Amino acid sequence: MRTLDEVETVGVVGAGSMGSGIAQVSAMNGYEVVMRDIEQEFVDKGMETIDSSLDRLVGSEKLSPDGADATRDRITGTTALDDLATADVVVEAVVENMDIKKDVFADLDDITDEGVVLATNTSTLSITSIASATDRPELVVGIHFMNPVPIMEGVEVVVGEKTAEETVEFAHAFSEALDKTTWESDDKPGFVVNRVLMPWINEGIRAYDEGVGSKSDIDEGLKLGTNVPMGPLELADHIGLDICLDASQTLHEELGDRYKPAYLLKRKVEAGELGKKTGKGFYEYD
Ligand code: NAD
Repeated sequence: MRTLDEVETVGVVGAGSMGSGIAQVSAMNGYEVVMRDIEQEFVDKGMETIDSSLDRLVGSEKLSPDGADATRDRITGTTALDDLATADVVVEAVVENMDIKKDVFADLDDITDEGVVLATNTSTLSITSIASATDRPELVVGIHFMNPVPIMEGVEVVVGEKTAEETVEFAHAFSEALDKTTWESDDKPGFVVNRVLMPWINEGIRAYDEGVGSKSDIDEGLKLGTNVPMGPLELADHIGLDICLDASQTLHEELGDRYKPAYLLKRKVEAGELGKKTGKGFYEYD
């Protein structure tokens, strides 16, 4: 198995909200990064997200202009799967769909060296099922970054049925090398964070839909009442309503009715109002 000391290149699959963030923090911490998406326009969008994030960090003097340039230089965007063959560790952050993730892991198993750890950033899907698409389930682990990756300190390490102890240790050490703080979860639906968070978000949406309070009553109430930085509607917009719905549906299927997604969440996703990323969710964004 590759040790952390041997890691020079980090492969990232998916250049969306999470993949671009994982690529950015990996490069900011000195790793060479290969970030792969299926279409050049998605790769370009991921690179733009990274550029804006680096510009903000430079603007707030958290990163020097030279540091930002060096970070950009370490990231190679690509649509070619084979470019991931040089990776010493891979973090997958494609859409939350089991069939797609299994296809990606089967490909990664074929093209990467034998001892390379293959991590998934899934929010709710089973690590054990994803690992079953490979011949190296002992090297498959969940490294669940939080959104936005460059800002959020926490990382959830998720241990599949067959994940080896050394792989778990590697996942913690790699996350810490990216300046993150970790905790661990067993491979149960939603892991620690989303199992608790998704019912909270859905209940906030139901409370709004059933007229318990206005959007701001609900968000301000939860902020001021429980000392969290964002209320459930605002947080859902930031995560992406489609991501919340996928996560809620997985929890519902696995754990039953107490995890049923709110009706209004489904209606908003059907209307294409996915939150901040589409300019409109529960709130409107420029
Ligand atoms: P996103 O929709 O922003 O990005 C997903 C990207 O994956 C897209 O650019 C898409 O083109 C790409 N993709 C699809 N199939 C691919 C393939 N075969 N190879 C390469 N790229 C492919 O989604 P996201 O919000 O970045 O979420 C990605 C993963 O991270 C999901 O599993 C999600 O559950 C998880 N996650 C999301 C959040 C969040 O708050 N958004 C937080 C933690 C974890």
